[in-house]
Amino acid sequence: MSLDKYREKRDFGKSPEPAGEENLPLKADREPRLYVIQKHRASTLHYDLRLEDDGVLKSWAVPKGPSLDPSQKRLAMEVEDHPLEYGGFEGSIPAGEYGAGKVIVWDRGTFEPQGEGESFGGMLAKGAAKIRISGQKLNGGFALIRTRWGGRDNSWLLIKEKDGHARPSYDVTAAEPLSVLTGRDVDEVE
Ligand code: MN
Repeated sequence: MSLDKYREKRDFGKSPEPAGEENLPLKADREPRLYVIQKHRASTLHYDLRLEDDGVLKSWAVPKGPSLDPSQKRLAMEVEDHPLEYGGFEGSIPAGEYGAGKVIVWDRGTFEPQGEGESFGGMLAKGAAKIRISGQKLNGGFALIRTRWGGRDNSWLLIKEKDGHARPSYDVTAAEPLSVLTGRDVDEVE
């Protein structure tokens, strides 16, 4: 049922995005869990963080993208769950369709919740989740903290933790702009 919102927003006859399997079994504790960030040039450029939980990708739109600087708190707006298949999607969503614009897989790998006995879903429900990412561009500890910025209950902050993978003076989105799957930048997608 978790993918109903995702499917309601899209016409899969017009958009090349995956509809997702109808009856994908829930895999509550599948390890390792998929981590993806997609770079999406829609009406404005943003980055979509996706983290696997219970057979879907929990998703946040991050307007400025992730940072490896622990002093940078990046706004992350929670959006509808996406199917696991979305983690391999690159393409161009036609004008007039939901999310119209171009998408690349900017980073991908796995992550481990750092819940010390608490489930990832439980941490998200409480509004504070710590994870350890193993990607090609992002690595190490990150925190997702719900803020209710502007009175909205879907606003979170994505914050790099202070560890050996923090790089305070490095702008990872500017320095590493390309797809980890195809080596293209987002504007090169047809
Ligand atoms: Mn997006």
